[in-house]
Amino acid sequence: MRIARAGRLFLTVELGEMAVTMLSDGETRLPGRFLAGAGVAGEIPIPVRAFLVRGPEGCLLIDTGAADQWQAGLGLLPEAMAEAGIRAGEVTALALTHPHTDHVSGLVDGDGGLAFPNAERLFVAVEDLMAVRANPRLRPLHPRLMPLEQGDGPIRGVTAVNAPGHTAGHMAYLVEGRLLIWGDLVHHAEVQFPRPEITWHHDADPDLARASRLQLMEQAVEAGWLVAGAHLPAPGIGRIERSGRGYSFHPATQG
Ligand SMILES: [Zn+2]
Repeated sequence: MRIARAGRLFLTVELGEMAVTMLSDGETRLPGRFLAGAGVAGEIPIPVRAFLVRGPEGCLLIDTGAADQWQAGLGLLPEAMAEAGIRAGEVTALALTHPHTDHVSGLVDGDGGLAFPNAERLFVAVEDLMAVRANPRLRPLHPRLMPLEQGDGPIRGVTAVNAPGHTAGHMAYLVEGRLLIWGDLVHHAEVQFPRPEITWHHDADPDLARASRLQLMEQAVEAGWLVAGAHLPAPGIGRIERSGRGYSFHPATQG
């Protein structure tokens, strides 16, 4: 991995012929008790991130931030893209890790139109399609919905990897066989790397979410994958190692 460029709200790494840009949507705070049984008092920081994957055959945006639909301090995706020099019109395909508010809201602009008009397809896991169709804000996207299953490639160089539990269809994306963009597999790195058994209040199926986290963390270590996540600490991309009875996260640094 090579860090090609970085700014206040973005960081781009190069992997062979692909480039992955972390785009920050901002940061909010949530109650520590959302980490089930972890005994964390007070509030914890929750950054929100989207990832843009640029390859020779297209430009895929994975997740789109919260826009003005959730907590204060979020909705910075357009600003992050501007800072990174990426125009909305360059995005040729969209994919979701899952259809929660902080991942789908940026699909629609302030006027209720398509924020990424040249993205002809929105890839969503089969199990999560109903939730997208049930969200009135996302009605303009309905004609562009594309069902996605494990092994599918939204663009060349990117492969969908099942990571169910947080939602039924929660999906990770493996870029160039080297970097796993894993959505909400981890909500709070400080707790869930050393104690990956700890689940999140909003997991649809906590046991399944835990099993997916344990399996993909181990697989990432075994395969030497880099990992990237929607709620990982800055810059949202890094290495994972085994540590004690769990794991540790080592954020990508420049130099
Ligand atoms: Zn999330």
